[in-house]
Amino acid sequence: MTPSKFSALIQSKCPRCRIGKVFEGPIYGMRKQRMHEHCPHCGLKFEVEPGYFYAAMYVSYAFSVAEVVSLGLATAFLTKSESPWVYIGVLFAAILLFAPFNLRYSRLVLLHYLSPKITYNPNYAKRDDR
Ligand SMILES: [Zn+2]
Repeated sequence: MTPSKFSALIQSKCPRCRIGKVFEGPIYGMRKQRMHEHCPHCGLKFEVEPGYFYAAMYVSYAFSVAEVVSLGLATAFLTKSESPWVYIGVLFAAILLFAPFNLRYSRLVLLHYLSPKITYNPNYAKRDDR
């Protein structure tokens, strides 16, 4: 059974075959996040052209703004604090905590939703060599 586009994105699978993993290793771990250069299942080159992932910065920026605004509002509602240090502490911790998430999912959103050249092809999913 083929995963939907969204569940392939959540599981960080390749946008073309939805089987091969885009990243090596888990999202949170002691090791640096590394991307496979090519999909281990269908061989798609993820970095379509040099510097392709610079575009993921815009997605990452949107994620960061959404996280900081919603956490800032949640902090205001929950603590009702007027001290700037509460917000600085919470938001600084959140930025560090969300950094690996933003890196991974901004690239995945770019590959799955913002790359018109890369589309799902069920023929690549059929080859069951891995
Ligand atoms: Zn693939």
